[in-house]
Amino acid sequence: MAAVEKNNDDFEKNNNLGKRADFEKEVRELVETGYSGVEEAILACKNCPLHETATNKVIGKGSSTPKVLFIGEAPGKNEDEKGIPFCGRAGKELDKMLEYMRLSEEEWAVINTLKCRPPENRNPKKSELEACKPFLTAQITLLDPKVVILLGNTAEKAYSPGKKMEWGVPEEINGRMVLKIYHPAALIYTRSRIETQHALIDKNRGLWE
Ligand code: URA
Repeated sequence: MAAVEKNNDDFEKNNNLGKRADFEKEVRELVETGYSGVEEAILACKNCPLHETATNKVIGKGSSTPKVLFIGEAPGKNEDEKGIPFCGRAGKELDKMLEYMRLSEEEWAVINTLKCRPPENRNPKKSELEACKPFLTAQITLLDPKVVILLGNTAEKAYSPGKKMEWGVPEEINGRMVLKIYHPAALIYTRSRIETQHALIDKNRGLWE
């Protein structure tokens, strides 16, 4: 099994060693339960108030051994109703992106920074991202992708708080290649970004091909 994904966040910066040790212990314990254990822990989670308003927790979809793992933001209305990530309009846009990337079904998976829908689709709060982060880290550790693709700024904020990546410029973080590209929803609202997104993908095909 892969080494537990390091907590690459601002706990480090604040030198908050106690909090960091707790986080790492929580992730290690989750990882030890395997992916189904993580799923169970997500379903049982009451670590932040979002569980009170969620219809369904949204865990992830795709391959259990992905080469590429996409990290989205949070469930929207459709995802909350069905318990499946990216099953609405943004999902259709993600499907087009996957086709453009020429990824087959066994090669990708997608998870979100938050497993519960924020009311009215508001942006996730920092406290919610922190509460959900052990699940995100455990999922990445267990899925063990070669490449992590952050879909937009919220995914970046959750994955590596305090760090600002350039769009489409890959970096090695904790032994994995990490790339930030546009969130599929951003392509729906600004169609001209599709061309830019395709250029970012073309520039980075070597990461997964
Ligand atoms: N947007 C996201 O970031 N995630 C989803 O699951 C759906 C829309």
